[in-house]
Amino acid sequence: MFDKWLADRTRLFDASGIRKVFDLAAKLDRPVNLSIGQPDFDAPESAKNAAIEAISSFKNGYTPTQGAATLRSKIQAQVDALYPGSGREVFVSSGVSGGLLLTLMALVNPGDEVIIFDPYFVMYDALVRMLGATPVYISTYPDFQIDVNKVAEAISPKTKLILFNSPANPTGAVAPRETVRELAALADEKGVALVSDEIYKFFCYDGEFHSPAEFSPNVIVLDGYSKCYGMPGWRLGFVHGPAQLMQEMLKFQQYTFVCAPSVLQLGAVAALDTDMTPYLDAYRRKRDLVYNGLKDYYEIPKSCGAFYTFPKAIGASATDFVTKAIQEHQLLIIPGNVFSSRDTNFRISFAAADSVIEEGVEILQKMARE
Ligand code: PMP
Repeated sequence: MFDKWLADRTRLFDASGIRKVFDLAAKLDRPVNLSIGQPDFDAPESAKNAAIEAISSFKNGYTPTQGAATLRSKIQAQVDALYPGSGREVFVSSGVSGGLLLTLMALVNPGDEVIIFDPYFVMYDALVRMLGATPVYISTYPDFQIDVNKVAEAISPKTKLILFNSPANPTGAVAPRETVRELAALADEKGVALVSDEIYKFFCYDGEFHSPAEFSPNVIVLDGYSKCYGMPGWRLGFVHGPAQLMQEMLKFQQYTFVCAPSVLQLGAVAALDTDMTPYLDAYRRKRDLVYNGLKDYYEIPKSCGAFYTFPKAIGASATDFVTKAIQEHQLLIIPGNVFSSRDTNFRISFAAADSVIEEGVEILQKMARE
C-alpha cells in the first residue's frame, strides 16, 4: 500500500551502498573502525559549559531565523575581516547539510544541471536528484585534482551551479590557489553559481587553504563547526554570500529548519575563542601514519586535507576488497562506489586513535601482501 503513497523523488537515489557496510559492521565484535566521518576529539569545555548554562538560564526559545545575535555578529566580523568590502552576508544554518539544502532549494530548478566532482560527498548527488536536477560529473581521478578546462567543457546552457569542496571528502585533496582562482573566474564568466563547501578548511596539512570567495563576491560559502570543533551532533553551520541570495535562503529556513539549535548556538560562541591547532598537528601526524604505512603497498595520492584518504583497492572491485577487509579482518572502510561512479578505490578515515590507525594499516599491508 505504501508504494502508492511514496513520492517519485524517493526513487531517485538509494542509500544501499553505505547501509551494506553498516550491516556488515553490526556483526563485528571488535571492529577496527576507519570509516567514521567525524573527529575523534570532543567539543571544547568552554562551549559545553556555555551550552549547559544557556539551557539552565531560560534560553531555550527560538533564535531569529538568521541566528542568535551574539553568534551571528561574531561570524559576520570574521567574514568581514577575511573579505573586506565584499558585502558578504552571514546566516547560521543547521549544519552545512542545512546550508546545502537551502542553497539548492533557492537556486536549482527541476531540469537544471549541477556540476559535481567525482568522487564526491554523497549528499551532493542525493540532494541534486531530490530537487529534480541532473548531476553532471567531472572525474578527478587519479590524483583528485580539478582540471578547470574540463569544467569549462562541461558547462552547458542548462548548468546552474558548481558544487566545489576543498579540502575534499572522500579524497583529502586540497585545490591549489591557482585552480581555485580559475574556477571562480570561470563561474563568473559563464554566469554560473559557484558553491564552496568549506567544512574541512581547518584541516589543511601542507599549505594554506584558499576559498573561491577570495576571488569573487558571487561565491556562496558553506561552512560549519561539526568537524573543526568536534561537535557534529550540534548541527551548526553558517552560510555567507551575496545578500540577495542569503535573504532568499532565509525564507526557506524560516519555513523548514526555523532556526539552528538555540542553546547550541550560544555554546558555539564560546568555541570560537578556542585554539584548536593542537588537533591540527595531531591529525597531520595521523595522516602521515596512514600515508607512510600504505604508500609502498597501494596507489595512494597523498591527502593534504580533511581526514580522509582514498587509495586504490587491490583487485577488480573495491566492494569485494572492502567486503574481504570487513569479513576477514574486521577492518571497517568504505568502498569507493558509495562516493563515485567508479568502484575502484576505498575511503579510509583517519579520525581515529593512533592505535586504531596502526592496527588498520597493518591489516591493509597484510592484505596487499596476500
Ligand atoms: N560537507 C562535507 C564535505 C561533509 O563531509 C559533511 C559531513 N560528513 C558535511 C558537509 C555535513 O556537515 P554538517 O555536519 O555540518 O551538516
